[in-house]
Amino acid sequence: MRSETSAADSSQTAIRCHGLDVFYGHGAQRHQAVKQASFEVRKGESFGVVGGSGSGKSTLLRVLAGLDGDWQGDVEVLGHRRVAGVAPQREYRLKVQMIFQDPFGSLHPRHTVDRCLSEAMRFHGFDRIEQRVVSALERVGLGKSFRFRFPHQLSGGQRQRVAIARALVLEPEVLLLDEPTSALDASIQAEVLNLLMEVRRDLGTTFLFVSHDLGVIAHMCERVAVMRQGVVVETLAAAQITAGQVAHPYTRELLANCYAAQPLDPVVA
Ligand code: ADP
Ligand code: MG
Repeated sequence: MRSETSAADSSQTAIRCHGLDVFYGHGAQRHQAVKQASFEVRKGESFGVVGGSGSGKSTLLRVLAGLDGDWQGDVEVLGHRRVAGVAPQREYRLKVQMIFQDPFGSLHPRHTVDRCLSEAMRFHGFDRIEQRVVSALERVGLGKSFRFRFPHQLSGGQRQRVAIARALVLEPEVLLLDEPTSALDASIQAEVLNLLMEVRRDLGTTFLFVSHDLGVIAHMCERVAVMRQGVVVETLAAAQITAGQVAHPYTRELLANCYAAQPLDPVVA
């Protein structure tokens, strides 16, 4: 039986992931990329997933995004339960948007910014499309003069702003961010991170933010799951990371590397 408290809690949960296993390959080649991953993300929270290359971060996000694969477990996003092998419904694909690491690969090379932003809105039956395109471009700091440019006429940072605008025009409740600034120069990286913080502050969007960089995660997120070789080894508050209060040796290793590279920014409330 469900207590009132847990019912109230569940209405505040954006993402629930319990015992998620994800596999690649077949037969003798089959291998497990995510092993019994469990975590919950509250509505409006910015939740980080950090881990080295190959630890299963992108694989995890792909299941949550509804890009299917070979998986099992208990996955629920905004009250919609994911079923392996069944494409998520249209509403799920509207409310849950993903931003990829490589903004060049994720934009169609022969489509203008305008087409890139308006196509998904048309598919989902939005009205006032032109107005929404212009206001999304303004929100991401590009302005309407960028409307009819092609991806090759944009810098890496501008392309990532377009990718963010394309997600935001759909008014998502959950943004899945897969290393959204890793492909950018350090100075541009800070600008795009600031833009994402503004988006969260203004729109209250739930973030699931993946990065190999503990400094970025501690700056952007309130809680963090640490992944190693497909396993979530611990979940921490970002404040514990900045205070050095981490239990698992792998997190200590990430923290030591991070301090060696640069001092941690203070956690932003
Ligand atoms: P991360 O995003 O943390 O770098 P990934 O989720 O991309 O890690 O990869 C996790 C593991 O799954 C790695 O061992 C990787 O080699 C493997 N993997 C990822 N994508 C595929 C794929 N399409 N086919 C086979 N193995 C894959
Ligand atoms: Mg990845």
